[in-house]
Amino acid sequence: MTKIKEVVDLLQQLAPLSYQESYDNSGLQTGNLHDEITGVLVTLDCTLAVLEEALAAGCNLIIAHHPVIFRPLKQLTGRSETEQIIIKAIQNNLGIYACHTNLDNVLSGVNAKICEKIGLENLKILSQKTGNLIKLVTFAPLENTNAILAAMHTAGAGQIGNYQNCSFWVSGIGNFKPGAEANPHIGEPGQQEEVAENRMEVIFPEHLKEKVVTALLAAHPYEEVAYDLYRLENANQEVGAGMLGDLPKSVPATEFMQQLKTKMQLNTVRHTNFENKQIIKVAVCGGAGSFLIKDALRAGADIFITADLKYHDFFIPEGKMILADIGHYESEVFTKEIFYENIIKKFSNFAVLKSKVNTNPVRYT
Ligand SMILES: [Zn+2]
Repeated sequence: MTKIKEVVDLLQQLAPLSYQESYDNSGLQTGNLHDEITGVLVTLDCTLAVLEEALAAGCNLIIAHHPVIFRPLKQLTGRSETEQIIIKAIQNNLGIYACHTNLDNVLSGVNAKICEKIGLENLKILSQKTGNLIKLVTFAPLENTNAILAAMHTAGAGQIGNYQNCSFWVSGIGNFKPGAEANPHIGEPGQQEEVAENRMEVIFPEHLKEKVVTALLAAHPYEEVAYDLYRLENANQEVGAGMLGDLPKSVPATEFMQQLKTKMQLNTVRHTNFENKQIIKVAVCGGAGSFLIKDALRAGADIFITADLKYHDFFIPEGKMILADIGHYESEVFTKEIFYENIIKKFSNFAVLKSKVNTNPVRYT
């Protein structure tokens, strides 16, 4: 049997909660982590119709991209659909888990799925996040260096782009005097010691902090382990908003637009003029992406595909890049495939269903 927690842990490996934006509310919204899963329904939005669909199919966990509780609720009386969803979920022991901007901000998230549909290569984050990398520095006797580094690497430290097990060490002298109650690995209580030690450095994303420090403490021979944690200002090339990719070859914009409509199942695209333009470099951002128009321009994109654009947004590129609004729902509806693919890869003892409800509140006539 599988507990809700195991699926939640998998989703948090895919999209750590610490990568969500400050205004967001991703995570488990209702339910008990220790309940056994009877079935999972994945969806873009958790509406009342989706909740009914989950209950009818015997699912007790809904995984949604958009959080059902986004702003704080002040009562639960069933006056709004959100309140009705929460009440009904609690009455039926149904877990609702939201994986929102944290999934927007990772390499294998919402935007990678759009890129996969369009057929883009050489994928990169368009606007990399800063401030989520930590550097750990520690000191240990020379003979323990390899074991300590190996333990921290196994915990996920030292991954930089396509390089793994990255670290740096340099030799020096450590000084200490064990107290009367101490049980030192080297030296005697009350005597000043000088020990040849290595200073080791590794970096890792902040959500791995506890895991890496635990690995360090377990592998280190000292009773008191000296280590420093520094938050870095460096951009994390694997975390951030939007994505940039290349088509295998340049195509006329008219042809690209037709392909885009087919591949993303679109009826309508709102866009700037694309006459006589060629496309090879494509920027994408699922959902509301107007905040990235200038990043897409700076990156040299031929087209930026996003949603929720306002009239004046369309003036910003001044003909240097095509701007295309494909609709919020349309840009993110394939997000449920990400949940589905990741869960069925790891678990096979419960059903995972993709919601069949069209939750798009926008209709075209
Ligand atoms: Zn969205």
